[in-house]
Amino acid sequence: MSLLTTARFHTTVAQWRQLPRSTLPEIAFVGRSNAGKSTAINVLCQRRRLAFASNTPGRTQALNYFAVGREEAIDGFLVDMPGYGYAAAPGGVRATWDALAGRYLHERGPLRAAVLMLDIRRRLTERDGALLDWLGAQRPLLVLLTKSDKLGTAEQAAARRAVLTQLAQRRGHARDPVILFSATTRRGVDDARAVIEGWIRDAEKKNPD
Ligand code: GDP
Repeated sequence: MSLLTTARFHTTVAQWRQLPRSTLPEIAFVGRSNAGKSTAINVLCQRRRLAFASNTPGRTQALNYFAVGREEAIDGFLVDMPGYGYAAAPGGVRATWDALAGRYLHERGPLRAAVLMLDIRRRLTERDGALLDWLGAQRPLLVLLTKSDKLGTAEQAAARRAVLTQLAQRRGHARDPVILFSATTRRGVDDARAVIEGWIRDAEKKNPD
């Protein structure tokens, strides 16, 4: 059984000072609005409505924490970040995103790694690139090319190559895993879980207590 299937809601953070006083590893889930982030979290955690999409642009600007760990124990947190880049979002929303979510990606000590959801048909947009700049090249990244079922095999491979090139330009290296993902066909689910669980386990080995 995957560790991720133990995920349960932990807390919502709307302001920096509400962040948990914990050193357990945190994995951030980020993506443009409508990239398929909520759907991906729910499939990875095998839950119907753990994360839910906000249809109102800018309504959810908070970070949602989900704890993972067997029984009562907590091994780490999955952190669902607010979506961004909604065309209809009011101007102040981007500033709000930057002040909490951007700062979180840049400064949060326990942040171990990030999972970036990209709609396979849109690839890496400028706003996604700005997010990677917040994250910095030192922190590990996993890219899920969501809704891969919408493209044929050749187009999927071409999109993956294009994203690898974009990442190499933006991150200075091309080592980040890029997985073809689909919630509909479950493609890439096991591979993505293995990467995320590996990050949480590695962090445990470094901080045994
Ligand atoms: P979020 O705003 O990033 O949380 O995006 P959602 O998870 O709400 O997904 C946005 C839309 O894409 C919804 O209509 C989903 O049903 C659809 N979607 C998400 N994942 C997939 C997928 O793997 N395949 C297909 N065909 N559609 C998907």
